[in-house]
Amino acid sequence: MSISVVPLGGAKEIGGSSYLFEFDGELVLVDCGLRPGVSRDDPDYLTKVVPNLDLIKKTPVCVVTTHGHLDHAGASPTFSRMFPGVPNYMSEETRAFSSLQWNDTLKIDRDRPHLRVFSEGDVTACQKAVRPLPIGGCIDLGHGISVEAIRAGHILGAISPKFKFKGKTIFVSGDFSCQDQTVISGANFDGIKVDFVLSEATYLARSRQSFGIEKGRFIADVLSVLRRGGKVLIPAFSIGRSQEVYQILRESGLFEQFDIWIDGGATYTSKVSLRYLPDKIDPDIEKHFVSKEDRGAHRHNICHDDKPCVVIVPSGMLEGGYAISYTRAWIGGNKNALMFTGYLDPNTLGYRVCYSRDGDEFDFPIIKRSRDGEITKIIPVARVRHCLIPDPYQFSAHAAHEDLLATWRGLNPKKLVLVHGSPENINWAVQNPNEILPGAEVIGPQNGERIILEP
Ligand SMILES: [Zn+2]
Repeated sequence: MSISVVPLGGAKEIGGSSYLFEFDGELVLVDCGLRPGVSRDDPDYLTKVVPNLDLIKKTPVCVVTTHGHLDHAGASPTFSRMFPGVPNYMSEETRAFSSLQWNDTLKIDRDRPHLRVFSEGDVTACQKAVRPLPIGGCIDLGHGISVEAIRAGHILGAISPKFKFKGKTIFVSGDFSCQDQTVISGANFDGIKVDFVLSEATYLARSRQSFGIEKGRFIADVLSVLRRGGKVLIPAFSIGRSQEVYQILRESGLFEQFDIWIDGGATYTSKVSLRYLPDKIDPDIEKHFVSKEDRGAHRHNICHDDKPCVVIVPSGMLEGGYAISYTRAWIGGNKNALMFTGYLDPNTLGYRVCYSRDGDEFDFPIIKRSRDGEITKIIPVARVRHCLIPDPYQFSAHAAHEDLLATWRGLNPKKLVLVHGSPENINWAVQNPNEILPGAEVIGPQNGERIILEP
């Protein structure tokens, strides 16, 4: 019997997560994500943005998708083009979020067909290939391989797949978090014992503030901006973070005094979240959506009237979406604030804005489109930053360093393969296995490197 794994992407990096497992010659792919940090201006964009699917030399039995974030599910339509009809197992929630991501990617590149990593047809094929893998469910994949979906915390619908093959157990963490967030409760892996673990290592050897402390700082800062009559823009990932931020503000009591709006793709993900978590999400959340009937006029009023308010809108890194329109409207006002609440890739506009200084200038061109989406006009607009931009709030949905160690020690594998983290921190762990998991082999593969779990 032999079991091995090759990272096709997402090894010593965050982005492009895709791990190819081999069980006695049968292949199972876990995740097929994009690298959101690759700039579309990069001459090698098309090869860099997707995992290296060319390393798949035989049609896999299936794909298992851990959750609906872009860096885990975003390239699945590309896989479906290469391997049509191969089933892709995921939770219902992940299906809803992934579909949104695939369609968003098509939309972002609608004017740049040469940058498309998949077509509408590939998305349709991919949607047809989706098979349900409910949280807590267990599925026989054939060839003696089975998979169980363990709840991973992180975001709605996220799972940690646990594979069984000929008496051996392989646990793939996906992205996970042990601490409760406001909406999503933490994972509980107590009592699970396995032979091999492939784990994310985002916060390995990194410290961060606790969720509670960051929540306090965030609420205090929002309130002080609103009280002085300013507007607060919170660019947020539509999946997970938008709902977390909304619920934090909801529970703070700010709603009684100030308007809070959700706009863009976050309205759809908020509806999905309400459907699956009716006891965790405000039942009146839809009343805070920028109104459907006349969205343009409503948005214009929010942008330009003098009422203090909060707007939660994607994208979190200002890569697109209506967050750009609000930034353009508010970045110059010294009473206003822009508050980032998540990871910012250094290649993004969000990063440059977040770490800018008062007086720095940015371009926010206005793009006019016809009804069928064709660009009709681009109006250049420059803005000088005068608004407040506090340090990003660390509302992480990933396991903290101590939680990683406790999780690995609880699972107690013979071999621990670390991925989805920085090269420095993973290398440190490989050199100091006794500080990580005494008695185990700790492995930090490169992309494309085959790791033999069971020879
Ligand atoms: Zn994630």
